[in-house]
Amino acid sequence: MTAMIALSGIIGLIVGSFANVCVYRMPRRESVIFPGSHCPACHHAIAACDNIPLLSWLILGGKCRHCSIPISWRYPLLELLMGLSWGLLAWHFGAVPELAVALCLFFLLWVLSFIDLETGLLPNALTYPGIVLGLFFSWWLGHWQDALIGAIAGYGIFWLIARLFLRLTGREGMGYGDFKLLAMLGAFMGWQALPFVIFASSVVGTFAGIIILLLARQGLRTEIPFGPYLAVAGMAWFVWGSEILAWYIGLTGINT
Ligand SMILES: [Zn+2]
Repeated sequence: MTAMIALSGIIGLIVGSFANVCVYRMPRRESVIFPGSHCPACHHAIAACDNIPLLSWLILGGKCRHCSIPISWRYPLLELLMGLSWGLLAWHFGAVPELAVALCLFFLLWVLSFIDLETGLLPNALTYPGIVLGLFFSWWLGHWQDALIGAIAGYGIFWLIARLFLRLTGREGMGYGDFKLLAMLGAFMGWQALPFVIFASSVVGTFAGIIILLLARQGLRTEIPFGPYLAVAGMAWFVWGSEILAWYIGLTGINT
């Protein structure tokens, strides 16, 4: 068990390194496979020994070995988040089919969050395959009906909210990427996840938005991506969904 957790964490670090490639290249519509890793500034190929997750960034002091341009702390951060979450997921779920689903979902959600934070986009190249993968996994685990309803309802609810928002305020509140991300979460976890994901992401997003606006100290319409909040709420539901549901049912006394 301990070996499996450690292995999952280490593979997570390596996958985190690949996730960084996806975050940089997918919004630029570049291949994530060819060419190999290279410095975005001097285009020097990055040797295998300089491409070790976390360690290389620390050893090189966060700079390119060839041109000394600073390498964003986003790289080690994403590697760390991926490694930690993959290790914790292995610890939480153990060797069951749900673990494979969880690892895939968390990879997609971390990559989408970081792309959204950097570019404000949630690429179709990730959300569409994500929806298909979620439906496939749900079919495999025997709850494809919930997943199909979840995917359609996820897209539909946000589409409806966006239409209402546009009619009331005259501006666009959410992007189509957010609709697709919620559809993906519905496909992975079933429609039962949607109320919590929408509620939790809105609450966290609103508080974070207020803080960001206060820090910015300007009346400007600072664009705050919504994807990361959806992603984190989705992660919470995937891990603690049944506990959250049990707590809520206890709170409202539906079963008493
Ligand atoms: Zn360089």
